[in-house]
Formats: sequence, C-alpha cells, structure tokens
Amino acid sequence: MATLRFHAVKESLKRKSLEINESKRRSEIFGQNVFNELAMRQFLSKNALTSILEAIEKGSKIDRLLADHISIGMKEWAISKGATHYTHWFQPLTGATAEKHDAFFETIRDGLAIEKFDGSQLVQQEPDASSFPHGGIRNTFEARGYTAWDPTSPAFVYGTTLCIPTVFVSYTGEALDYKTPLLRALHAVDKAAVAICKYFDKNVRKVSASLGWEQEYFLIDNALATSRPDIVLTGRTLLGHSPAKGQQLDDHYFGTIPNRVMAYMRDLENECMLLGIPVKTRHNEVAPNQFELAPIFEEANLAVDHNSLLMDVMQKVAKRHDFKVLLHEKPFAGVNGSGKHNNWSLSTDTGVNLLSPGKTPMSNLQFLTFFINTIKAVQTYEELLRGAIASASNDHRLGANEAPPAIISVFIGQQLTKVLEELETVTKGKLSPKEKTDLKLNVVGKIPEILLDNTDRNRTSPFAFTGNKFEFRAVGSKANCANPMTVLNSIVAKQLLDFKKEVDNLIDEKSMKKDDAIFNVLREYIKTSRSILFEGNGYSEDWEKQAKKRGLSNNKSTPAALKVRISKPVIELFEGLGVMNKVEVEARYEIEMEEYILHTQIESRVIGDIARNHVVPTAVRYQNILIENVTGLKTIYGDKFKAYAKEQLELIEQISKHIEAINSLVTKMTDERKTLNKNSDIGKKANGYCKKVKPLFEDIRYHCDKLELMIDDELWPLTKYRELLFTK
Ligand code: ADP
Ligand code: MG
Repeated sequence: MATLRFHAVKESLKRKSLEINESKRRSEIFGQNVFNELAMRQFLSKNALTSILEAIEKGSKIDRLLADHISIGMKEWAISKGATHYTHWFQPLTGATAEKHDAFFETIRDGLAIEKFDGSQLVQQEPDASSFPHGGIRNTFEARGYTAWDPTSPAFVYGTTLCIPTVFVSYTGEALDYKTPLLRALHAVDKAAVAICKYFDKNVRKVSASLGWEQEYFLIDNALATSRPDIVLTGRTLLGHSPAKGQQLDDHYFGTIPNRVMAYMRDLENECMLLGIPVKTRHNEVAPNQFELAPIFEEANLAVDHNSLLMDVMQKVAKRHDFKVLLHEKPFAGVNGSGKHNNWSLSTDTGVNLLSPGKTPMSNLQFLTFFINTIKAVQTYEELLRGAIASASNDHRLGANEAPPAIISVFIGQQLTKVLEELETVTKGKLSPKEKTDLKLNVVGKIPEILLDNTDRNRTSPFAFTGNKFEFRAVGSKANCANPMTVLNSIVAKQLLDFKKEVDNLIDEKSMKKDDAIFNVLREYIKTSRSILFEGNGYSEDWEKQAKKRGLSNNKSTPAALKVRISKPVIELFEGLGVMNKVEVEARYEIEMEEYILHTQIESRVIGDIARNHVVPTAVRYQNILIENVTGLKTIYGDKFKAYAKEQLELIEQISKHIEAINSLVTKMTDERKTLNKNSDIGKKANGYCKKVKPLFEDIRYHCDKLELMIDDELWPLTKYRELLFTK
C-alpha cells in the first residue's frame, strides 16, 4: 500500500478552518507595523522628519548626523512594536528576498547591556555576499557587496525584526539586485515624462510609475503537497494523469470560496494590513484550488517591494493553515497556470494619470501622446519585453490554457483603434485651422465617452490597454515584478526621449506649432507601430503565422528569449539611460541562463528519480500480482486459462513495454545531461537543456501517466491530481 499518499489524504480530510479574529477595522490596523509618516511624526525630530520626507520626494541625500537621529527614532519605534532585531532587507537575483538579522542588543562593560542602532547601521551594511548570484561581477577574493538604505520604501516590522528595504550592490558599484536598476529606470522615466508633460502643463515636476499587480496562486493541502517529491523540490508536478474532472465546467471561477481558504485569505489580509500592503480583491480563479489576490496600485518601487514581501508572507501564513502556496506558473498540466498581471500607468505630481483620457481636448492630446508612445516603445522593444518575463517555469505557461502567448502584442480595443485610424490620416506638415479644430472636437475630444464602452474582457493579450492603464499579462506568478517593470519603464523613457527630440526638431527646424508637431510625430508612430497591434484573443496558430509575417518575435523558450538581452541595441538602451552598464546587463544574462540550466537540471533529476524509484517499482509490484493471478488461473483451468486471463496477460505485456520505455528514456536523459554538463558555453548548455533534456520530460511523463491509469489505485505511490486539486 502507498503509505505516504494515503497518510496525507487522511491528514487532509481531518482539517478544520481556523478562527480568524477581525475585531478591528482594516483602516485602523493598516500600516501599523510600518515606519510611515504617522510613526515618523511620533518618533523623529522635525529636522529628521523633513530630511527623510525630502529624500522620498526629491531623492535628496540624508545627512549623516540626521541619519543617526533617524536610526534612534526608528529603533525605539521598532522596539515598541516588539522587534528585537534589525535587518537590511533586499532582493538578490535569486528571486527570493534576503535578510540577515542582527540584534539591537549590545553589551557595554561589566555585564551591562543596551539596545543600540546607529545611523551607519541604518544606512549601509556589508553582508558577506559571496554566495548570492553575481554573474561573474565579483571574484571571490573581492566578495564584498554592500546594502544601502532605500528611504523611498518605508521600513517595517515583520515578526520580531525591523526590516529596512535596501539596494544591494557590489563594491565597485554594480547592481547585484532587482531594486537598483528599477530605481534607475523609474528615475529615467520620470525625467523623460516630465519633459513631455511640459508641452501641456508647465507645473509638472515629477512623474511616477504606478504598479498594481494581481497575484495568482494555488493553495494545496500541506500534507498532500509534501507527499509529492516533485512539488517539494521543483514547485510543480512533473507527472500525474489529469483527473476525470478538471476545469471544463468552469465552476470554480468567482465561485464560493471554501471555508478553509477563506480563513487563510482573511489571515493573510490581516498580515498585509499590518505591513501596509493595501490588498483589496480576492477571488477564486479558473483552475480548481487556484485563487487571486490584488492590491490597490502603488508607486512602482513600493509595489514591487510589497509583492516580494507578500510572496513571503503568503507562505508563512499558509503554514498556520496547513496549506502550501504554489506560486509556480504551471504547477499542474492541463489546467490553467498562474500569472501576475502587472497593471502599469504614469501619473504626475499634479494628480493626473497620463494614461487616462481627460476632460478637454488638450488633456486628451496628452493622453494620446503617452498612449501612442507606449505602444511605439513596445513595438520597438517587443523582444526585450518578452525577455523580461522569461523563466524556465513561465515557459510552461505561455501559450497554453488561456495564458498569453510568447508573442508580444498590444490590445487597445475597437474604439481606440478607430481613434488611431483617424489620427493616421492627419495631413503631413502644418494642419489647417479647420482640420485642427475638427480633430480636437471630433477625434481627440471624443475619447472619454467612447472609452466607457470599451470593456476589454479579453484576458489573454500579453499587453492590453484597460481604460486608464496598460496591463502586462505575460509576467509569471513567481517572478519579481522589478524585472519587467525595469524594462517597461526603460523602454518608455527611451521612447519619450526620442519623441521629444523629433517634436522639438519640427518646432525648431520647420517652425511648426507645438500641436502640429505633436500630431505629425504621432501620425508617423501610428504608422510604424501598426504591426504590434492585435485585437485577437491570445494564442492561435493563425496568429502565429500572421505575427511571423509582421516580423514579431516568437521566442518560445527562455534561452531563445534571453538572447536579446545582450544584443547591442539593448545594451545601448540601458547604458544610454543609466539603468545598467554593459557589465551589469551581461551579468544578469548569465545569471538568468544559469538559473534556467539549474532549474531544468533539477527537474530532470527529480523526474528521473520518481520514474525509476517510485513508478517502475510500483509497476513491477502490480505486474507480479497479475502474474500470480495468471499462474493461479492456470492451475485451476489448465490449458483453458487464457480465456480467463486475457486482460491480465495484456496488462502484463503493456506494463513491461512502459517500464522498458521509461528506463531507456531516463538513461537517455541522464546521458544528455552528462554531455551537456561538460559544455562551458552557457548559451549552448542552456539550449541543450532546452532542446535535448526538457522534451524527454514529456515522453517519460507519458509512460508514467499511462501506468497510473493501469495500476491498482491502492498501490499508486504518488498523490493523484484529483486529490491535490479537489481537496478543499
Ligand atoms: P481586473 O484586471 O481583474 O479587471 P482591476 O481592473 O480591478 O482588475 O485592476 C487590477 C489591478 O489594477 C489592481 O491592482 C488595481 O489597483 C490596478 N490599477 C487600477 N488602476 C490602475 C492604474 N491607473 N495604474 C496602475 N494600476 C492600476
Ligand atoms: Mg487584470
């Protein structure tokens, strides 16, 4: 009997949902564990408060002396919240968050002790960073990296630790984390967008990018999840036959949330409230046991930190409820995978969302400027955008079961398509007064009312305009949003810079009026960006063919998708904007390729192990039972036994065939790995893992899943899909 599996099933059936205490209003507990303005006002001197607020708003430097003041206030606040330790909290390129805790506690002399935390400990630290991924930037003898405080993301108390959001850079100043390039990209888009805003409103001083992520996840009973070695080691199931019932009835989406899950969600939301993560929406997703959580959008850097923190909190809270959260993009074959839609927009310090149509023709022209420039940016850098969401795990999701395909395209809806078509017919050169009035009244001026009926319920376009924001849907559920956000904000920044140059050129050289110049440049952009616009629904073979004709990339695997990251135009893009230098770009490429190889290698080992050590022995055992049965029948019936043993004999034969296939495929896979591991060229190695190792997973799985259907359920050792997906 398959002990672990049945033990896990038994455990899972005993679960009760936890009682969650929600006596206080959410608005009351929101941000209670965050060193926010309210806390700062209580714990900081006026000078310290002013300097930190200025650092947040204008990015100004904080004086060393004031840093000492801030650290003391921060420490006292943290201790009042139960903290005993502090840590510089950062996001290395492993994808997880990192922290090393130090106690405030210090001895002074003769058995005396105090709590201490000074400015230098707040501002900078030097963790021994040699074992974080660095893509060859740091040699081991130069293993020092340092973390530096990012005052734009507030410190918070998590458990009993004061967490200080920081960047992580090498001793020579190269970024070793996700946050550093993101901050630089946000700075670049701020500068570039402000310059464009000045065409419309001289008062604009700052433009910030906003991000609202939607986090999808699977919630699986912990006992069931840990009974599967593949889930434990790779975060997904590597084999398992689909259950008789999957998601075909569409009865899960927006359905009633099961009690135990509801308790988990409420508990999680409470934690989020304390940490200042403004979560707002929760619901069932399409696949069984799949759910979604979304916050109110925030400034992009803060939103990225909050999502990273959330992914950690989700796992911790899940333990209390005997759940395991699967953030993998494709934990189960045959049912929907999980994504993390990144809703993105730009807004000014004067309170205008630049991607929201306004009330006047002038503000609508501003909207159209940012709208069309974003489309143009995506058109120019579609391949880079695809590269920004590439990972071994997301490869399984893209293009399958209602997920966006690997082809990047922009969906804008019928109404805006029409607006662009009309704008495209604008006269080249100076516009006649009549044309301009007509344009402003009937095209640009009409946008708000027509947008109201532009309801986009197409959920699978990789990049879609949804009323007042763009929604990048190809981002993977376990990805750090910083990567796609760095790329998106960088390409838009670059595009806006180019746009400004072209408009100014027309104004200066051709003495055009500002509006005429803007209309002229936009008209050209609409023409050159047409190939990226696609109003269809996600993936289809026809779209694949069409996209190819349009010259759009279709990089289905991570190694293919990452290549563009080290291409000349991309390096020039990042260097030109000051987002990353060549060394940083190349290091990231190496880290991501290496990660791809390691993930695929681990999966390959795990599937080999499960197939050989779990599936094959079970198959042999069942086959022996059959043989025993056949032998018995022969004893009873003599020569006539075949009439009674037909099915059994056939099964015995089929089982042998599957066992033989599994063994030879696993051997082949191991040999491929051995050869590839000798290859020191990272590109060739990653490609080899993609083309030679990974396809064997499917073949091995096929035979294992067939055996699952043949073998006595009592003997099958691996917790089945129906148990994983339908246990509530
Ligand atoms: P859905 O895409 O499921 O219809 P919503 O429209 O409610 O969901 O929004 C999803 C996410 O988009 C939320 O996190 C929300 O805060 C965010 N969002 C809404 N407006 C903006 C905006 N202007 N900029 C960035 N994110 C936004
Ligand atoms: Mg959405």
